[in-house]
Amino acid sequence: MSKNTTEPLIFEVSRPGRRAANLLPECDVPYQSPSELLGAENLRETLPLPEVSELDVVRHFTHLSQRNYSIDAGFYPLGSCTMKYNPKVNERTAGLPGFASLHPLQPQETVQGALELIYELQNLLTEICGMKATTLQPSAGAHGELLAMMMVQAYHAERGDTHRNTVIIPDSAHGTNPASAARCGFKVKGISSNSKGCTDLVQLAKALESGNVAALMLTNPNTVGLFESDIQQVCEMVHAAGGLVYCDGANMNAMLGLTRPGDMGFDVMHFNLHKTFSTPHGGGGPGCGAVSVQANLEPYLPIPTVEKSGDSFRWNFDNSKSVGKVHSFYGAFLIAVRAYTYIRSLGKEGLRSASENALINANYIRARLAEYYDVAYNAPICMHEAVFSASRQKREGDVRALDISKRLMDYGFHPPTNYFPLIVPEALMIEPTETESKQTIDTFIEAMISIAKEAKETPEIVRTAPHTTLVSRLDETMAVKNLDLRYEPLFR
Ligand SMILES: *Cc1c(COP(=O)(O)O)cnc(C)c1O
Repeated sequence: MSKNTTEPLIFEVSRPGRRAANLLPECDVPYQSPSELLGAENLRETLPLPEVSELDVVRHFTHLSQRNYSIDAGFYPLGSCTMKYNPKVNERTAGLPGFASLHPLQPQETVQGALELIYELQNLLTEICGMKATTLQPSAGAHGELLAMMMVQAYHAERGDTHRNTVIIPDSAHGTNPASAARCGFKVKGISSNSKGCTDLVQLAKALESGNVAALMLTNPNTVGLFESDIQQVCEMVHAAGGLVYCDGANMNAMLGLTRPGDMGFDVMHFNLHKTFSTPHGGGGPGCGAVSVQANLEPYLPIPTVEKSGDSFRWNFDNSKSVGKVHSFYGAFLIAVRAYTYIRSLGKEGLRSASENALINANYIRARLAEYYDVAYNAPICMHEAVFSASRQKREGDVRALDISKRLMDYGFHPPTNYFPLIVPEALMIEPTETESKQTIDTFIEAMISIAKEAKETPEIVRTAPHTTLVSRLDETMAVKNLDLRYEPLFR
């Protein structure tokens, strides 16, 4: 987001009378005027719209797009978010008219290819995670969590276990986990992690004693970047107490082709197709939080499901145990096309090496920066994210994780995630992903080392960063809550 010096600093380009399209021909077919169509009382004589030429419009939007940092513009190590490169071939397939121009109400005989793609992608995801069945309906990971909790509730209800009203969630979890459980009507019981950053089995056993536990929600690898090595025992303990185990699969990019949540003992999980399977995300666009289940939860999957008989595919709405629909029609279909393209273009070997390289890149960063920043947990290796603490910088120069993140912008990088997970003080969570070259990662490491030196020698420059962006520090709460998006004309 470096300052573009040729960009005009005056935002207002409107001038009275300026037009982009003056030359529309007279209409030569019968038509209704706007006042006939809408009623004159609904029309305004004048609207305070910007008056600009075509070139003004093109430059305005081009400049705006350049202010937006993106994975196509540079390194984006935002931990937990898996900001990997989105291959352009995914866009080609998602743009094929046979997919892009479908209408969701078309008769199913005319959308056999789309149904086949959904069916195949579901099977691929089911195999990748080692479970029994998958749905693509949820729009995001958090939406998948909610669907999973609805299915957990339906499962216990059918068994008459309606007293199971509690969901256990470790303190390292993403905030969406407790929100999803609570939204579903469950009580959330937090347990703290042990000194190694993993699930504390003693605390877990205590939390299970009540007999009211419906489920445990666990992220693996967890949000401090570590693999839960006791995971099989954790699942056995929860099952023995009559509960189910949910895997927050946002960190699946660490495990493709290496290990499977289904084999570890999880009953249900979500994938973030927009993270692990490279569909574009950020800024609230459409995603997909596919949910996979073991046989015990399959009856509760949302309707419709896609079924295959012989060579043809059909929607099946006929399932009285289903929790119902969680999305209009069938989810974000073109996201599914992108993820399917990604999985098929990498293949089994490619997926596995994607995860292997994600792990190598994160461990390389962790090893090279360990001298300059405190590593959050002293495990021999991390998974696909390296979590540091800026506690040393805070102590020595009153420089905080936020300051380091802001300063990285001056070096041309998107900041890492900071202040998450909450259990790491001054957390800096770096996820390089597999798609970055060693050159890019080395340049990032050099920037982090420079900033560590600045934090010691000239801390003021870090505390007041960024210095090269169009605007510097915003009131981040007000910037979100009080968006100033309305156009107010300067000239009337
Ligand atoms: C991203 C993320 C989620 C939520 O996923 P969305 O698709 O953003 O709703 C949940 N848990 C973890 C650990 C995540 O990183």
